[in-house]
Amino acid sequence: MNQFEVIPPRSGVAFELREGQTLTVCDPLGCQVADLLAFAADDIREVISNGRTFDYEETISLTTGNRLWSNRSQVLLEILEDAVGRHDFLLTPCSEATFRHFYPDKPVHRGCFGNLAEALAPYGVEPDAIPTAFNLFMNVPVEADSGKLSVLPPTSRAGDWIALLARRDCIIGLTACSAYASNGGTFKPIHYRISNERPSSREVDIQSGEAQAVHHRHD
Ligand SMILES: [Zn+2]
Repeated sequence: MNQFEVIPPRSGVAFELREGQTLTVCDPLGCQVADLLAFAADDIREVISNGRTFDYEETISLTTGNRLWSNRSQVLLEILEDAVGRHDFLLTPCSEATFRHFYPDKPVHRGCFGNLAEALAPYGVEPDAIPTAFNLFMNVPVEADSGKLSVLPPTSRAGDWIALLARRDCIIGLTACSAYASNGGTFKPIHYRISNERPSSREVDIQSGEAQAVHHRHD
């Protein structure tokens, strides 16, 4: 088993994930969102699509067993296990513009959008090609009648995680989100790990516990 990698607060990374590999994303301290993007490695114009995913999965509440589809109607990722069960695929990555809009009295930050754009640039992804991200642990309830959205603190607790299986070779972008409301007002790290085999829940629980311990030691 590989060790967890650390994404520091308010930053992002990009990496390759091969077909058959599993990406486990852990919220080591709890109440922290991670924006996830997936592009097809053989043609980055193919990318995860919330609309296609809602079409084929027939829900906006995605969890264990649901698949993340591309704009070309192909499955890129499949959710293998999910300790949280609440994620968002409606809202775009936070950005300079959304900071100006929602937090006019706070310092502007480039947000997940800027972090993803920088991390994905070496793979040839232009900022305009960044779609709505799958926002892990983001808690966005939708009022049934009015359709009104709210952004509430994540329900994830320390050490909670989600595991996604790559069904294609992918380029992944992943952040520790920078926005105030979506993270309960504080900015925490995100941990992730790539494994070649499907992890058992017990192994991940042990690993995420170790990741938490490592984080606390370094704090
Ligand atoms: Zn964000």
